[in-house]
Amino acid sequence: MPIRPLSTLLINQIAAGEVVERPANVAKELVENAIDAGATRIEVLVEGGGRERLRVVDNGGGIPFDELPLAVAPHATSKIGSLDDLDAIATMGFRGEALASIGAVSRMILTSRAAGANEGGRITVEGDSVTGPEPAGCPPGTTVDVRQLFARTPARRKFLKADGAETRRIRELLLRLALSHPTISFVLVSGDRTLLELTATAEPRQRVLDVLGTELEAELVEVESEDSDACIGIWGLVGRPSVARPTTRHLHLFLNGRPIVDRSLTHAVREAYRGLIDPGRTPTAVLFLELDPARVDVNVHPTKTEVRLRDDRLVYSRLHRAVVEALSDQDLTASASVSAAPDASASLHRPEFGAGRSVRTGFAVGMAASPGFDAGDARREMSAPVSPAPSLLAATPATPVMQVHGSYIVAEDDDGVVIIDQHALHERIMFSTLLERVLDGDLDSQRLLAPAVVEADAEQLDGLERIGPLLKKLGIEAEAMGPSTVGVHAVPVLLLERNVDIVEFTAELLARAGGGSLPPDEEAALQEVLDMMSCRAAVKAGEPLNAMELAELLRQRELVERSSRCPHGRPTTLRLSLEDLEKQFGRR
Ligand code: ADP
Ligand code: MG
Repeated sequence: MPIRPLSTLLINQIAAGEVVERPANVAKELVENAIDAGATRIEVLVEGGGRERLRVVDNGGGIPFDELPLAVAPHATSKIGSLDDLDAIATMGFRGEALASIGAVSRMILTSRAAGANEGGRITVEGDSVTGPEPAGCPPGTTVDVRQLFARTPARRKFLKADGAETRRIRELLLRLALSHPTISFVLVSGDRTLLELTATAEPRQRVLDVLGTELEAELVEVESEDSDACIGIWGLVGRPSVARPTTRHLHLFLNGRPIVDRSLTHAVREAYRGLIDPGRTPTAVLFLELDPARVDVNVHPTKTEVRLRDDRLVYSRLHRAVVEALSDQDLTASASVSAAPDASASLHRPEFGAGRSVRTGFAVGMAASPGFDAGDARREMSAPVSPAPSLLAATPATPVMQVHGSYIVAEDDDGVVIIDQHALHERIMFSTLLERVLDGDLDSQRLLAPAVVEADAEQLDGLERIGPLLKKLGIEAEAMGPSTVGVHAVPVLLLERNVDIVEFTAELLARAGGGSLPPDEEAALQEVLDMMSCRAAVKAGEPLNAMELAELLRQRELVERSSRCPHGRPTTLRLSLEDLEKQFGRR
């Protein structure tokens, strides 16, 4: 085929491929335009999952009659005029390609009346044919009515999901945009059903509650932090550990009002929950970051959900710290209260001591559903088989009764019986103690008589160099001895005391450092290595403990915070209260 210029239609269709993959993307572009136009009420109507029809009505500033043809022309925008503007972008849109792209893959009718104009105008785009503008009677504001989306690009149509799934995507998108725009009312109607109705409010907190579900209020903690030197402001609500979810859909990050997807910042939030929730879960969180727009590059991808930050490390650590501080201000004790499942008597597993390794109490951790998103998650969690001990802070005194199966400690306290996973508890104790010591100064280390020699590949040697400062803090002295070996000269006293195999430990450390699985943030990496050390140094399952050792472990349990969870967030302790026992034995 000879070289020739692409037709405008084809250019627009290709551009559409980047911006409008599916109905939810179209909805996003149209709703963002309405937001940029200063609307206070935005109404979205979908039919057939948005494929048959997707209409967005706003009461914003509207488009002057003469500018209607420009609005639907590619690369025409009222939002930026120069490259400098791009550096301080304050609007949701700016590329000026959305309307042109959508028109190229649908039949789009744009009706608008500018503020102050006596009447409005209408322009229709269908592929490469533009009709109008012609005068139209309409209220102030803009209506964009998109029909037969992707009718002319059957390939795209084929990859769309069922109507219900597309509608759900649109709903989630609106919820996300609504979170950062509390002063706008949002309505979503599908066919003749109203799926969403959010009333405008001046209170950002109220909007977050409306979206997450007001009954979640008691489970949410406010985060607030301001660093005026670095120009970083953070505000939001984060969930207590009890409302962490198996998917990431309940973690919402916003940067200067724009919903963003950012692996590093998501990691910062997860890290703040280290030891409080299982690593497979994601905390519920809605967090708004405000940064100087000049330090953010939003022009990375046409859909603009990814951003590039100029000081990503600083923002990472500020966000991490803000969430940690908010959580540590809280007495998390109340949140994980144990409650009997409603139909407890029918479905209870009786605790069977000695009948197996896992103890199931049959009680569910009480938690509220969040209708804002998918209540299914919450329902699945209601049937969680274990009940972690309620206290996430230091534990109340307990007296050991015995060790069972060489792995669990059965003890009694004022409330009833506690069953402790000895390895998990010891790991938590070690981790907390080590962390405290490291924060105070470097760990005590001891030189080895002869270096321990560990094999390493080139990547791992590089990794070793990268984590040099971290190892020094931990009292580990290790250096390359040849092209493929590392010599370990000194290690923390604690590892020797606990008979940890130094070669195995170093090999694991090198594997993580080389494979890049250690987090980039220094503090997070430190915690991860401490985690490894604690796991290796802790008593193992199957290790017999004498009465004194049992007592000592329980004594230490009272001294550390978050002792009811191991550093990975799994419970260390299960509780059967006297009340539970009495109920289960039918004593009342
Ligand atoms: P962009 O939003 O990147 O500028 P679009 O193609 O989405 O590009 O829109 C082109 C232009 O049309 C906008 O710059 C704006 O001036 C105008 N426009 C689009 N939608 C609306 C709306 N709902 N209300 C007012 N003006 C609008
Ligand atoms: Mg736009």
